[in-house]
Amino acid sequence: MSIANVKDTLTEQLREWDRNYFMHPTSSVRAHQEHGPSHIFTKGEGIYLTDINGKTYIDGLSSLWNVNLGHGRKDLAEAARNQLETLPFTSSFNNFSNEPAIRVSKKIAEITPGDLNVTFFTSGGSESNESAFKIIREYWKLKGQPERTNIISLQKGYHGVTLGATRATGMDNFNTFGTSFAPGFLQATPYLTECEKGDTTHPNYASSIRGMIEKEGPEKIAAVMMEPIQGAGGLNVPPKGYLQAVRALCDEFGIFLIADEIICGFGRTGKMFGVENEGIVPDFMTVAKGITSGYVPLGAVIMRESFRDELASLTDGILFHGFTYSGHPTSCAVALKTLEVLEKENIVSHVKEMEIVVKNGFASLIERHPHVTNDRCVGLLSAFDVFKEPETNTPFQPAEFAAQILSKECEDRGLIIRPVMYKGANTIVFAPPLVSTKAEIEEAFAIFSDALTAFEKRIQ
Ligand code: PMP
Repeated sequence: MSIANVKDTLTEQLREWDRNYFMHPTSSVRAHQEHGPSHIFTKGEGIYLTDINGKTYIDGLSSLWNVNLGHGRKDLAEAARNQLETLPFTSSFNNFSNEPAIRVSKKIAEITPGDLNVTFFTSGGSESNESAFKIIREYWKLKGQPERTNIISLQKGYHGVTLGATRATGMDNFNTFGTSFAPGFLQATPYLTECEKGDTTHPNYASSIRGMIEKEGPEKIAAVMMEPIQGAGGLNVPPKGYLQAVRALCDEFGIFLIADEIICGFGRTGKMFGVENEGIVPDFMTVAKGITSGYVPLGAVIMRESFRDELASLTDGILFHGFTYSGHPTSCAVALKTLEVLEKENIVSHVKEMEIVVKNGFASLIERHPHVTNDRCVGLLSAFDVFKEPETNTPFQPAEFAAQILSKECEDRGLIIRPVMYKGANTIVFAPPLVSTKAEIEEAFAIFSDALTAFEKRIQ
Protein backbone atom coordinates (compact mmCIF):
# COMPACT_ATOMS: atom_id res chain seq x y z
CA MET A 1 0.00 0.00 0.00
CA SER A 2 1.27 3.50 -0.80
CA ILE A 3 1.61 6.12 1.94
CA ALA A 4 -1.37 8.00 0.46
CA ASN A 5 -3.49 4.86 0.65
CA VAL A 6 -2.46 4.21 4.27
CA LYS A 7 -3.45 7.78 5.12
CA ASP A 8 -6.82 7.42 3.38
CA THR A 9 -7.50 4.20 5.27
CA LEU A 10 -6.56 5.81 8.58
CA THR A 11 -8.82 8.79 7.86
CA GLU A 12 -11.69 6.47 6.97
CA GLN A 13 -11.10 4.50 10.16
CA LEU A 14 -11.20 7.66 12.29
CA ARG A 15 -14.34 8.86 10.52
CA GLU A 16 -16.05 5.56 11.22
CA TRP A 17 -15.03 5.57 14.90
CA ASP A 18 -16.20 9.16 15.16
CA ARG A 19 -19.60 8.18 13.76
CA ASN A 20 -19.85 5.15 16.01
CA TYR A 21 -18.57 6.47 19.32
CA PHE A 22 -18.48 10.27 19.49
CA MET A 23 -21.64 12.32 20.09
CA HIS A 24 -20.87 15.90 19.14
CA PRO A 25 -22.00 18.96 21.11
CA THR A 26 -24.41 21.40 19.47
CA SER A 27 -24.46 19.36 16.27
CA SER A 28 -26.99 17.46 14.19
CA VAL A 29 -27.08 13.86 15.40
CA ARG A 30 -28.73 12.84 12.15
CA ALA A 31 -26.23 14.61 9.85
CA HIS A 32 -23.43 13.03 11.87
CA GLN A 33 -24.88 9.56 11.46
CA GLU A 34 -25.37 10.15 7.73
CA HIS A 35 -22.10 11.89 6.89
CA GLY A 36 -19.71 11.49 9.85
CA PRO A 37 -17.64 14.42 11.16
CA SER A 38 -17.44 17.48 8.89
CA HIS A 39 -13.75 18.06 9.66
CA ILE A 40 -11.06 16.29 11.63
CA PHE A 41 -8.45 18.85 12.64
CA THR A 42 -4.92 17.76 13.34
CA LYS A 43 -2.91 20.95 13.78
CA GLY A 44 -3.21 24.63 14.64
CA GLU A 45 -0.67 27.37 14.06
CA GLY A 46 -1.47 31.04 14.68
CA ILE A 47 -4.83 31.81 13.09
CA TYR A 48 -4.73 28.68 10.90
CA LEU A 49 -6.12 25.18 11.37
CA THR A 50 -5.12 22.16 9.31
CA ASP A 51 -7.39 19.18 8.81
CA ILE A 52 -6.51 15.52 8.40
CA ASN A 53 -6.42 15.90 4.61
CA GLY A 54 -3.79 18.63 4.88
CA LYS A 55 -6.17 21.45 3.96
CA THR A 56 -5.57 24.71 5.82
CA TYR A 57 -8.25 27.13 7.03
CA ILE A 58 -8.35 30.53 8.68
CA ASP A 59 -9.98 29.96 12.08
CA GLY A 60 -12.43 32.84 11.59
CA LEU A 61 -14.28 32.23 14.86
CA SER A 62 -11.17 31.64 16.99
CA SER A 63 -12.61 28.09 17.22
CA LEU A 64 -15.47 28.96 19.61
CA TRP A 65 -14.61 32.63 20.19
CA ASN A 66 -11.94 31.42 22.58
CA VAL A 67 -8.54 30.74 20.98
CA ASN A 68 -7.85 34.45 21.19
CA LEU A 69 -4.04 34.25 21.15
CA GLY A 70 -4.05 31.81 18.25
CA HIS A 71 -2.99 28.19 18.07
CA GLY A 72 0.34 26.55 18.79
CA ARG A 73 1.77 29.05 21.29
CA LYS A 74 4.80 27.63 23.04
CA ASP A 75 4.50 30.02 26.02
CA LEU A 76 1.02 28.78 26.91
CA ALA A 77 2.02 25.15 26.38
CA GLU A 78 5.05 25.69 28.60
CA ALA A 79 2.95 27.26 31.36
CA ALA A 80 0.73 24.16 31.30
CA ARG A 81 3.66 21.79 31.11
CA ASN A 82 5.56 23.42 34.00
CA GLN A 83 2.50 23.26 36.21
CA LEU A 84 1.66 19.69 35.17
CA GLU A 85 5.17 18.62 36.11
CA THR A 86 5.17 20.50 39.44
CA LEU A 87 1.63 20.17 40.76
CA PRO A 88 -0.98 19.16 38.17
CA PHE A 89 -3.92 19.40 40.48
CA THR A 90 -4.85 20.13 44.04
CA SER A 91 -8.26 21.00 45.42
CA SER A 92 -9.38 24.46 46.53
CA PHE A 93 -12.14 23.12 48.81
CA ASN A 94 -11.92 23.80 52.56
CA ASN A 95 -9.75 26.84 51.88
CA PHE A 96 -6.86 24.80 50.46
CA SER A 97 -5.05 26.91 47.90
CA ASN A 98 -2.37 26.94 45.21
CA GLU A 99 -0.06 29.56 43.77
CA PRO A 100 -1.40 29.87 40.19
CA ALA A 101 -4.99 30.33 41.49
CA ILE A 102 -3.84 33.00 43.94
CA ARG A 103 -1.77 34.84 41.36
CA VAL A 104 -4.38 34.80 38.63
CA SER A 105 -7.12 35.99 41.05
CA LYS A 106 -4.91 38.94 41.94
CA LYS A 107 -4.21 39.66 38.27
CA ILE A 108 -7.93 39.57 37.46
CA ALA A 109 -8.59 42.09 40.25
CA GLU A 110 -6.00 44.39 38.66
CA ILE A 111 -7.49 44.33 35.15
CA THR A 112 -11.21 44.39 35.93
CA PRO A 113 -13.11 47.67 36.33
CA GLY A 114 -14.25 49.06 39.68
CA ASP A 115 -14.10 46.86 42.76
CA LEU A 116 -14.69 43.63 40.83
CA ASN A 117 -11.85 42.11 42.81
CA VAL A 118 -12.95 38.66 43.95
CA THR A 119 -12.94 35.58 41.74
CA PHE A 120 -14.75 32.25 42.09
CA PHE A 121 -13.41 29.72 39.56
CA THR A 122 -15.39 27.23 37.49
CA SER A 123 -14.60 25.00 34.52
CA GLY A 124 -16.39 27.02 31.84
CA GLY A 125 -19.04 29.52 30.84
CA SER A 126 -22.26 27.71 31.74
CA GLU A 127 -20.90 26.80 35.16
CA SER A 128 -19.94 30.44 35.70
CA ASN A 129 -23.44 31.68 34.94
CA GLU A 130 -25.02 28.91 36.99
CA SER A 131 -22.72 29.80 39.90
CA ALA A 132 -23.62 33.49 39.64
CA PHE A 133 -27.35 32.65 39.84
CA LYS A 134 -26.88 30.39 42.86
CA ILE A 135 -24.54 32.64 44.80
CA ILE A 136 -26.81 35.65 44.20
CA ARG A 137 -29.97 33.77 45.20
CA GLU A 138 -28.22 32.51 48.33
CA TYR A 139 -27.24 36.08 49.17
CA TRP A 140 -30.82 37.32 48.90
CA LYS A 141 -32.00 34.41 51.05
CA LEU A 142 -29.44 35.29 53.72
CA LYS A 143 -30.51 38.93 53.49
CA GLY A 144 -34.04 37.87 54.44
CA GLN A 145 -35.42 38.40 50.91
CA PRO A 146 -35.93 34.80 49.76
CA GLU A 147 -38.44 35.83 47.06
CA ARG A 148 -35.74 37.61 45.13
CA THR A 149 -35.08 34.63 42.87
CA ASN A 150 -35.93 35.76 39.34
CA ILE A 151 -33.24 36.40 36.79
CA ILE A 152 -34.10 38.63 33.84
CA SER A 153 -32.07 38.11 30.67
CA LEU A 154 -32.57 39.17 27.06
CA GLN A 155 -34.13 37.45 24.08
CA LYS A 156 -31.38 36.21 21.72
CA GLY A 157 -28.91 36.15 24.62
CA TYR A 158 -26.82 33.00 25.00
CA HIS A 159 -25.71 31.97 28.46
CA GLY A 160 -24.93 28.25 28.24
CA VAL A 161 -26.57 24.87 28.55
CA THR A 162 -26.74 23.82 32.20
CA LEU A 163 -30.28 23.92 33.61
CA GLY A 164 -30.33 27.53 34.79
CA ALA A 165 -28.08 28.85 32.04
CA THR A 166 -30.32 27.19 29.44
CA ARG A 167 -33.35 28.94 30.91
CA ALA A 168 -31.48 32.26 30.90
CA THR A 169 -30.61 31.72 27.23
CA GLY A 170 -33.11 33.63 25.10
CA MET A 171 -33.06 31.35 22.06
CA ASP A 172 -35.99 28.90 21.93
CA ASN A 173 -34.03 26.11 20.25
CA PHE A 174 -31.69 25.93 23.27
CA ASN A 175 -34.22 27.12 25.82
CA THR A 176 -36.73 24.33 25.17
CA PHE A 177 -34.21 21.52 24.64
CA GLY A 178 -34.65 18.78 27.22
CA THR A 179 -37.64 20.48 28.84
CA SER A 180 -35.62 22.47 31.33
CA PHE A 181 -37.80 23.03 34.40
CA ALA A 182 -35.53 25.50 36.21
CA PRO A 183 -37.94 28.19 37.43
CA GLY A 184 -37.30 31.87 37.95
CA PHE A 185 -36.10 33.02 34.53
CA LEU A 186 -37.66 35.79 32.46
CA GLN A 187 -36.66 37.10 29.06
CA ALA A 188 -37.01 40.72 28.05
CA THR A 189 -36.96 42.29 24.60
CA PRO A 190 -33.50 43.64 23.90
CA TYR A 191 -32.51 47.22 23.53
CA LEU A 192 -35.68 49.12 24.48
CA THR A 193 -33.47 51.89 25.85
CA GLU A 194 -36.30 54.41 26.20
CA CYS A 195 -38.35 51.96 28.29
CA GLU A 196 -35.39 51.17 30.53
CA LYS A 197 -35.01 54.92 31.03
CA GLY A 198 -38.62 55.13 32.18
CA ASP A 199 -40.87 55.67 29.13
CA THR A 200 -43.90 53.64 30.25
CA THR A 201 -45.97 54.77 27.24
CA HIS A 202 -43.78 52.89 24.75
CA PRO A 203 -45.82 50.17 22.91
CA ASN A 204 -43.32 47.45 23.94
CA TYR A 205 -42.93 48.62 27.52
CA ALA A 206 -44.38 45.42 29.03
CA SER A 207 -41.63 43.27 27.52
CA SER A 208 -38.79 45.61 28.51
CA ILE A 209 -36.65 44.86 31.55
CA ARG A 210 -38.32 47.72 33.41
CA GLY A 211 -41.77 46.51 32.40
CA MET A 212 -40.95 43.04 33.69
CA ILE A 213 -39.58 44.35 36.96
CA GLU A 214 -42.76 46.35 37.42
CA LYS A 215 -45.03 43.40 36.58
CA GLU A 216 -43.26 40.88 38.83
CA GLY A 217 -42.43 43.35 41.56
CA PRO A 218 -38.83 44.46 42.13
CA GLU A 219 -38.76 42.53 45.41
CA LYS A 220 -38.89 39.33 43.33
CA ILE A 221 -35.99 40.11 40.98
CA ALA A 222 -32.54 38.87 41.96
CA ALA A 223 -30.51 40.00 38.97
CA VAL A 224 -30.41 41.07 35.35
CA MET A 225 -27.96 39.21 33.10
CA MET A 226 -26.79 40.22 29.65
CA GLU A 227 -23.90 39.99 27.23
CA PRO A 228 -22.36 43.42 26.49
CA ILE A 229 -22.68 42.34 22.83
CA GLN A 230 -24.76 39.26 22.02
CA GLY A 231 -22.67 36.59 20.32
CA ALA A 232 -24.40 33.31 19.46
CA GLY A 233 -27.78 35.06 19.05
CA GLY A 234 -26.51 36.84 15.93
CA LEU A 235 -23.95 39.40 17.02
CA ASN A 236 -26.34 42.07 18.24
CA VAL A 237 -24.69 45.29 19.38
CA PRO A 238 -26.77 47.39 21.80
CA PRO A 239 -27.35 51.02 20.88
CA LYS A 240 -25.19 53.51 22.72
CA GLY A 241 -26.52 54.25 26.17
CA TYR A 242 -28.36 50.95 26.59
CA LEU A 243 -26.02 49.36 29.12
CA GLN A 244 -25.90 52.61 31.05
CA ALA A 245 -29.70 52.73 31.15
CA VAL A 246 -29.82 49.14 32.45
CA ARG A 247 -27.13 49.90 35.04
CA ALA A 248 -29.18 52.87 36.28
CA LEU A 249 -32.36 50.75 36.29
CA CYS A 250 -30.69 48.02 38.38
CA ASP A 251 -29.41 50.67 40.81
CA GLU A 252 -32.89 52.19 41.09
CA PHE A 253 -34.36 48.89 42.31
CA GLY A 254 -31.32 47.42 44.09
CA ILE A 255 -31.07 44.57 41.56
CA PHE A 256 -27.72 43.02 40.66
CA LEU A 257 -26.38 43.39 37.14
CA ILE A 258 -24.42 40.42 35.79
CA ALA A 259 -22.39 41.00 32.62
CA ASP A 260 -21.80 37.77 30.73
CA GLU A 261 -18.32 38.55 29.39
CA ILE A 262 -17.70 35.00 28.24
CA ILE A 263 -17.18 36.11 24.63
CA CYS A 264 -16.50 39.83 25.14
CA GLY A 265 -13.97 39.53 27.96
CA PHE A 266 -10.18 39.74 27.65
CA GLY A 267 -9.82 42.06 24.71
CA ARG A 268 -12.30 40.76 22.15
CA THR A 269 -14.10 44.12 21.75
CA GLY A 270 -11.00 46.32 21.75
CA LYS A 271 -11.35 46.95 25.50
CA MET A 272 -10.28 44.53 28.18
CA PHE A 273 -13.97 43.90 28.98
CA GLY A 274 -17.07 44.56 26.87
CA VAL A 275 -18.77 46.70 29.55
CA GLU A 276 -15.91 49.20 29.29
CA ASN A 277 -17.25 50.28 25.89
CA GLU A 278 -20.08 51.92 27.87
CA GLY A 279 -18.06 52.78 30.94
CA ILE A 280 -20.25 50.84 33.35
CA VAL A 281 -19.28 48.54 36.21
CA PRO A 282 -21.57 45.54 36.67
CA ASP A 283 -21.94 43.80 40.04
CA PHE A 284 -20.76 40.50 38.59
CA MET A 285 -18.88 39.46 35.49
CA THR A 286 -18.90 35.88 34.27
CA VAL A 287 -15.94 34.87 32.13
CA ALA A 288 -14.46 31.76 30.44
CA LYS A 289 -13.11 31.09 26.92
CA GLY A 290 -10.46 33.81 26.37
CA ILE A 291 -9.23 33.62 29.96
CA THR A 292 -7.00 30.71 28.89
CA SER A 293 -7.21 31.40 25.17
CA GLY A 294 -9.07 28.07 25.08
CA TYR A 295 -5.93 26.02 25.74
CA VAL A 296 -7.42 24.44 28.89
CA PRO A 297 -10.91 24.78 30.38
CA LEU A 298 -11.50 27.56 32.91
CA GLY A 299 -14.30 29.93 33.83
CA ALA A 300 -14.97 32.35 36.65
CA VAL A 301 -17.50 34.55 38.41
CA ILE A 302 -15.90 37.87 39.29
CA MET A 303 -17.73 39.78 42.02
CA ARG A 304 -17.42 43.04 43.90
CA GLU A 305 -15.30 42.99 47.00
CA SER A 306 -18.20 44.60 48.89
CA PHE A 307 -20.48 41.70 47.92
CA ARG A 308 -17.98 39.13 49.20
CA ASP A 309 -17.56 41.11 52.43
CA GLU A 310 -21.30 41.22 52.95
CA LEU A 311 -21.63 37.53 52.21
CA ALA A 312 -18.97 36.83 54.81
CA SER A 313 -20.81 38.93 57.36
CA LEU A 314 -24.15 37.30 56.62
CA THR A 315 -23.07 33.74 57.16
CA ASP A 316 -20.50 31.92 59.17
CA GLY A 317 -21.45 28.78 57.27
CA ILE A 318 -19.99 27.18 54.20
CA LEU A 319 -20.44 28.10 50.55
CA PHE A 320 -22.14 24.85 49.58
CA HIS A 321 -21.09 25.43 46.04
CA GLY A 322 -17.87 24.44 44.31
CA PHE A 323 -16.57 22.30 41.48
CA THR A 324 -13.77 19.77 41.71
CA TYR A 325 -11.92 21.93 39.21
CA SER A 326 -12.61 25.33 40.86
CA GLY A 327 -9.14 26.85 41.02
CA HIS A 328 -7.46 24.10 38.94
CA PRO A 329 -3.74 24.91 39.19
CA THR A 330 -2.93 23.99 35.59
CA SER A 331 -5.84 25.98 34.16
CA CYS A 332 -4.94 28.92 36.39
CA ALA A 333 -1.27 28.76 35.31
CA VAL A 334 -2.34 28.97 31.66
CA ALA A 335 -4.74 31.82 32.51
CA LEU A 336 -1.97 33.73 34.24
CA LYS A 337 0.28 33.37 31.20
CA THR A 338 -2.59 34.37 28.88
CA LEU A 339 -3.19 37.57 30.85
CA GLU A 340 0.54 38.31 30.87
CA VAL A 341 0.68 37.93 27.08
CA LEU A 342 -2.39 40.17 26.64
CA GLU A 343 -0.55 42.91 28.49
CA LYS A 344 3.00 42.40 27.22
CA GLU A 345 1.98 42.19 23.57
CA ASN A 346 -0.52 45.08 23.82
CA ILE A 347 -3.18 42.83 22.35
CA VAL A 348 -6.10 45.05 23.30
CA SER A 349 -4.79 48.08 21.41
CA HIS A 350 -3.87 45.80 18.50
CA VAL A 351 -7.52 44.66 18.39
CA LYS A 352 -8.65 48.28 18.20
CA GLU A 353 -6.34 48.79 15.21
CA MET A 354 -7.60 45.63 13.51
CA GLU A 355 -11.18 46.83 13.96
CA ILE A 356 -10.44 49.43 11.29
CA VAL A 357 -9.18 46.74 8.90
CA VAL A 358 -12.36 44.71 9.40
CA LYS A 359 -14.57 47.78 8.94
CA ASN A 360 -12.75 48.63 5.69
CA GLY A 361 -13.19 45.02 4.60
CA PHE A 362 -16.94 45.21 5.17
CA ALA A 363 -17.18 48.54 3.32
CA SER A 364 -15.58 47.04 0.24
CA LEU A 365 -17.76 43.88 0.42
CA ILE A 366 -20.87 46.07 0.54
CA GLU A 367 -19.63 48.05 -2.43
CA ARG A 368 -18.97 44.98 -4.57
CA HIS A 369 -21.57 42.45 -3.40
CA PRO A 370 -25.27 43.30 -3.64
CA HIS A 371 -26.57 41.01 -0.86
CA VAL A 372 -24.22 42.13 1.92
CA THR A 373 -25.70 44.47 4.51
CA ASN A 374 -25.94 45.33 8.24
CA ASP A 375 -22.23 45.12 8.95
CA ARG A 376 -21.26 45.56 12.59
CA CYS A 377 -17.88 45.39 14.22
CA VAL A 378 -16.59 46.11 17.71
CA GLY A 379 -12.96 45.18 18.08
CA LEU A 380 -12.62 41.74 16.49
CA LEU A 381 -16.24 40.81 17.08
CA SER A 382 -17.97 41.35 13.77
CA ALA A 383 -20.72 40.19 11.44
CA PHE A 384 -22.71 41.02 8.36
CA ASP A 385 -26.05 39.80 7.02
CA VAL A 386 -27.01 38.67 3.57
CA PHE A 387 -30.41 39.85 2.36
CA LYS A 388 -32.10 39.02 -0.94
CA GLU A 389 -32.61 42.75 -1.50
CA PRO A 390 -31.03 44.95 1.12
CA GLU A 391 -32.62 48.12 -0.35
CA THR A 392 -36.16 46.83 0.23
CA ASN A 393 -35.21 44.92 3.38
CA THR A 394 -36.25 41.64 1.73
CA PRO A 395 -34.64 38.65 3.45
CA PHE A 396 -33.80 35.30 1.90
CA GLN A 397 -36.33 32.61 2.76
CA PRO A 398 -35.14 29.86 5.15
CA ALA A 399 -35.52 27.29 2.33
CA GLU A 400 -32.93 29.21 0.30
CA PHE A 401 -30.24 28.32 2.90
CA ALA A 402 -28.36 31.52 2.13
CA ALA A 403 -26.11 31.61 5.20
CA GLN A 404 -25.34 27.89 4.94
CA ILE A 405 -24.43 28.18 1.24
CA LEU A 406 -22.19 31.18 1.83
CA SER A 407 -20.56 29.52 4.82
CA LYS A 408 -19.79 26.44 2.70
CA GLU A 409 -18.33 28.61 -0.08
CA CYS A 410 -16.07 30.24 2.52
CA GLU A 411 -15.01 26.87 3.92
CA ASP A 412 -14.23 25.48 0.46
CA ARG A 413 -11.85 28.42 0.05
CA GLY A 414 -10.22 27.99 3.45
CA LEU A 415 -12.15 30.26 5.79
CA ILE A 416 -14.21 29.00 8.72
CA ILE A 417 -16.87 31.41 9.94
CA ARG A 418 -20.11 31.03 11.93
CA PRO A 419 -23.45 31.24 10.10
CA VAL A 420 -26.39 32.22 12.35
CA MET A 421 -29.83 31.36 11.03
CA TYR A 422 -31.86 31.98 14.21
CA LYS A 423 -35.38 33.27 13.46
CA GLY A 424 -34.77 33.63 9.74
CA ALA A 425 -31.50 35.54 10.04
CA ASN A 426 -28.69 34.98 7.56
CA THR A 427 -25.80 36.31 9.58
CA ILE A 428 -22.14 35.58 9.02
CA VAL A 429 -20.03 36.05 12.14
CA PHE A 430 -16.31 36.78 11.88
CA ALA A 431 -14.31 36.80 15.13
CA PRO A 432 -10.76 35.75 14.31
CA PRO A 433 -7.98 35.39 16.91
CA LEU A 434 -7.00 38.70 18.51
CA VAL A 435 -3.46 38.25 17.22
CA SER A 436 -4.60 38.32 13.57
CA THR A 437 -2.46 40.65 11.48
CA LYS A 438 -3.70 43.16 8.90
CA ALA A 439 -2.49 40.85 6.10
CA GLU A 440 -4.30 37.86 7.60
CA ILE A 441 -7.57 39.77 7.96
CA GLU A 442 -7.24 40.99 4.39
CA GLU A 443 -6.66 37.39 3.31
CA ALA A 444 -9.94 36.46 5.03
CA PHE A 445 -11.74 39.30 3.23
CA ALA A 446 -10.37 38.22 -0.13
CA ILE A 447 -11.92 34.80 0.57
CA PHE A 448 -15.21 36.43 1.64
CA SER A 449 -15.29 38.26 -1.66
CA ASP A 450 -14.60 35.16 -3.78
CA ALA A 451 -17.10 33.15 -1.75
CA LEU A 452 -19.73 35.87 -2.25
CA THR A 453 -19.15 35.86 -6.01
CA ALA A 454 -19.71 32.09 -6.05
CA PHE A 455 -22.74 32.51 -3.77
CA GLU A 456 -24.25 35.13 -6.11
CA LYS A 457 -23.98 32.67 -9.03
CA ARG A 458 -25.52 29.83 -7.04
CA ILE A 459 -28.58 31.70 -5.83
CA GLN A 460 -29.45 33.33 -9.17
N1 PMP B 1 -22.17 32.75 27.67
C1 PMP B 1 -21.79 33.13 26.45
C2 PMP B 1 -21.95 34.57 26.06
C3 PMP B 1 -21.26 32.20 25.55
O1 PMP B 1 -20.91 32.59 24.32
C4 PMP B 1 -21.09 30.87 25.96
C5 PMP B 1 -20.48 29.83 25.05
N2 PMP B 1 -20.59 30.03 23.70
C6 PMP B 1 -21.50 30.51 27.25
C7 PMP B 1 -22.02 31.47 28.08
C8 PMP B 1 -21.38 29.09 27.74
O2 PMP B 1 -20.06 28.75 27.92
P1 PMP B 1 -19.59 27.21 27.92
O3 PMP B 1 -19.91 26.66 26.58
O4 PMP B 1 -18.14 27.29 28.24
O5 PMP B 1 -20.36 26.53 29.01
